[in-house]
Amino acid sequence: MIAVLGSANLDLVVTVERAPGRGETVTGRTFATLPGGKGANQALAAARAGGDVAFLGAVGDDDFGRRIRELLADAGVDVSGLAVSDQPTGTAHITVDGTGDNSIVVVPGANGTVTALTDAHRATIDRAELLLLQLELPLDLVVEAARYAHAREIPVVLTPAPAVPLPEELLEAVDILVPNEHEAALLAGIDDPIAAAEQLTRLCDDVVVTLGARGAAWLSGGETIPVPAFPVQAVDTTAAGDTFVGVMAAGLAGGLQLGGALHRASAAAALSVQRPGASSSMPDRAEIDAFLAE
Ligand code: ADP
Repeated sequence: MIAVLGSANLDLVVTVERAPGRGETVTGRTFATLPGGKGANQALAAARAGGDVAFLGAVGDDDFGRRIRELLADAGVDVSGLAVSDQPTGTAHITVDGTGDNSIVVVPGANGTVTALTDAHRATIDRAELLLLQLELPLDLVVEAARYAHAREIPVVLTPAPAVPLPEELLEAVDILVPNEHEAALLAGIDDPIAAAEQLTRLCDDVVVTLGARGAAWLSGGETIPVPAFPVQAVDTTAAGDTFVGVMAAGLAGGLQLGGALHRASAAAALSVQRPGASSSMPDRAEIDAFLAE
């Protein structure tokens, strides 16, 4: 089982020809409300890809929260560890421009109330083959969870997003770090993403730096292994990274080595960027298999 301890948000998504500059107003094209949050996205991507997933986090006692719970449960995710908080469900305010690039403001809400591991969290992590973490819950909790799992030899996968400087004690408890190029640069203090990832392998065994349409690079034991992207026409890259990580985790839990899991992750992310939205764009296992068989 894959345990995901992370955020659940409702994404409020606007599409525009060109994102507004400071002080500027532009007319949007479309507006939609879509379930998201990096934690929920990764849980959903892993479950759609065939993983057995338990989600740990919190939503508000509101329609947004009920919608997210239902979506996860319908995908087969165990939501018994999804608490109901007195704060509203977290929201992410996303602008997608005409080229498919996005900019995002996150308001944590209920996610901010998950401040310490509970006995129920520990019991789920104890049973997990893999723990997925991101940085949309309070940092102290992420550190506590990583260290708890690491001490029990449960592999920890961290998506260091949104990017903030991280304590070494967190990175030392992470087995697979999956930054995008901006996050890798910020964490290592080096602009070049490959050099930055190389630096980060001093603290984490495996570092997979994602490079958007250029694919990803897996750094391990002094080697740099390219993970090619699939050439596709991107319309919305929201949650490409979360799809990538969720599908990678499903592959690992299903018995693949990391290289094989990354190949599937790249295929799944390529499928997801061809469709709008976060959760709505994630492929299922059959679709990934069919794409890889083409
Ligand atoms: P994030 O969404 O976290 O910023 P990236 O943009 O690096 O992450 O994308 C994650 C992965 O998604 C990439 O490593 C790649 O496999 C895939 N991907 C992203 N953009 C494209 C694209 N335009 N075409 C094909 N694959 C893509």
